[in-house]
Amino acid sequence: MYMPSIIELPETISELSDEGKALFNRFFDIRGSIGKMVIPEEMKPWIEKTFGGVASVEQQKIIKIFNKVTFESAMFNELRAKRPIEAKTDDSVTKEINESAGDPFCKPLSMTPADSFGRIKGKFCITASNVAKYDGLHGLVIFNKHNPLDFTEKEVQDYFHTSLKWFDKAHKSNKEAAYPFLLWNCLWRAAASIIHGHFQLVLGEGKHYAEAEEYNETRKRYYNEYKSDYFFDFYKLHELIGLGLERKNLRVFTNIAPRKDKEITIISEKPDNNFISAVYKAANCLVKDFGVMSFNIGIIFPPLNKDEGWEDFPVIARIVDRGKLSNKTVDVGGMEMYARSNVIETDPYKVFEKIKSYF
Ligand SMILES: [Zn+2]
Repeated sequence: MYMPSIIELPETISELSDEGKALFNRFFDIRGSIGKMVIPEEMKPWIEKTFGGVASVEQQKIIKIFNKVTFESAMFNELRAKRPIEAKTDDSVTKEINESAGDPFCKPLSMTPADSFGRIKGKFCITASNVAKYDGLHGLVIFNKHNPLDFTEKEVQDYFHTSLKWFDKAHKSNKEAAYPFLLWNCLWRAAASIIHGHFQLVLGEGKHYAEAEEYNETRKRYYNEYKSDYFFDFYKLHELIGLGLERKNLRVFTNIAPRKDKEITIISEKPDNNFISAVYKAANCLVKDFGVMSFNIGIIFPPLNKDEGWEDFPVIARIVDRGKLSNKTVDVGGMEMYARSNVIETDPYKVFEKIKSYF
């Protein structure tokens, strides 16, 4: 079956209606370029073995995608984007996870602090207070299961419902703290210092976290200019190029300027069970279909108070692969850190092809 590729994006856009093109051009600037080189004879056998041919290496196609609204950008190289994906689990990692059982999170009642407002017990998890906090209110949802890669939808639903209760209690303990963010750093490539499965919950005071504030400013600016909803239009353009799906109040897409590899975005009006189910599906898809073992999930919730200027702000979840656990090289380098340009391996079309089969 024919599947479009990110490398052919300029052709895909040229086939859109005028209206579609105009919407796309509001957000993105796409540029293709060819990287050329001369390969010495002695090097050719290695090139053949590694890339399957010399010609495609001597002249390699690169697509640069620039989001004009948010100044996010991504670069795709045909050589990488066309590589087949192997969903292989790393046995040495499974062994390492199993050997770390019996850590402090396996005994949360005696080995983790409680919040001043107490603990919340879910069916498959319990909350704790983070021992070294990012912010005044910083809690944990500790899964009963040690292995973070072993999760079912029922469990994930419970982790989320417990998180929502924690946000509510934390907010009641300090009314100024009203800006919720949920993160799941799964294993060490994603910056988790503890192997045992856990969410982290932070509740900002006075202001939302920077990404949320930026989203809100962007959506206001966008509305003033186009009298249209930023989140809906951003989703819509991805749907037009075959990278988005909509179910009731839920929108799922693979951003063409992702933060990092295999990113999936989910936007919903509310953090209801359908939304949680979609987050579960996205995580499950990365783990089962792509062999991802380390990922970040970040979820921005609208403020818990009736803060002016945040009306109709949605819930936004993004999930991203952080690379192989056995790989010593980190996936974020100088380009990402200081050029705001993300070098991406996997074609978003390949990711979307898989995630859409779950809906
Ligand atoms: Zn444990």
